[in-house]
Amino acid sequence: MPDLTDVVAQIARDMARAETRGTVASYIPELAKVDPRQFGICVIDHDGKVHAAGDADVPFSIQSVSKVFTLTMALGKVGDQIWTRVGREPSGNPFNSIVQLEREAGIPRNPFINAGAIVVSDILLEGHKPREAIGSILSFVRDLADDQTIIVDSAVARSETQTGFRNVALANYMRAFGNLQNAPELTLGVYFHQCAISMSCRQLATAVQFLAHDGFNPAVGRRVVSSERARRIAALMLTCGHYDGSGDFAFQVGIPGKSGVGGGIIAVVPGKAAIAVWSPGLNKVGNSLLGAVALERLTRAMNWSIFASR
Ligand code: GLU
Repeated sequence: MPDLTDVVAQIARDMARAETRGTVASYIPELAKVDPRQFGICVIDHDGKVHAAGDADVPFSIQSVSKVFTLTMALGKVGDQIWTRVGREPSGNPFNSIVQLEREAGIPRNPFINAGAIVVSDILLEGHKPREAIGSILSFVRDLADDQTIIVDSAVARSETQTGFRNVALANYMRAFGNLQNAPELTLGVYFHQCAISMSCRQLATAVQFLAHDGFNPAVGRRVVSSERARRIAALMLTCGHYDGSGDFAFQVGIPGKSGVGGGIIAVVPGKAAIAVWSPGLNKVGNSLLGAVALERLTRAMNWSIFASR
């Protein structure tokens, strides 16, 4: 087996030089300002050893990567009841699509498309004020990453609040079907702020470690979820973590992952590694172009596909 530190360093060197880098998301104006030449990678292996390279310590907007953390919280809050309001099937549609919701009576296909994540935020908001819900999401993520310096980038949250018209439409549409309990603008306030959390690859890899260790976070020595729940969250990442690029990601990379339009991807190799990569340029379906290339290179070099027998 090649040396992981060397593999990670080589990938970072090659990605820094890559000419085709995708297109930075511009529908959230604040994200359009990010320099596309950046690339970061952090891999935490089974023994907790951290292998980081490139821009691994540069914070970026985690966007939909946050949906893994809020789903984990909502499962803790309401358990399997969540599945009466959100499905568990890949959507085969763009991340912000509204068409499926009409046919399926306001029940989003899964918790990782925007509509599904907005329902999850609505669940976290129930019984709280938006400020409290945002605060508890932030402290959950800080605890997972073992880093109290993580913040919400208020410029990004504001930018999305001013321009997130499709998400406003999704929320109102679901409210019309009775699948949102709170006022749409309050639920969206929670959703936009969770998406605007800023984290580096190193912080994200630490935070997702619990999914590589059957629900136990070794960085803080604490169980986050049961092993069964960890497997189920990872299963959803594999089938739904890259929108309508999920099938291709499973085919090319072969591990559970979750992307965000900020260019980040978190991924896990159960029992072996927790990974975060970041490069702001996106492919046609809104997933980090070089992030996916880097993960494919990594899993190939380390023989880490979850479908490999050894
Ligand atoms: N905040 C983004 C949106 O709702 C998240 C999308 C993503 O990261 O894929 O449009």
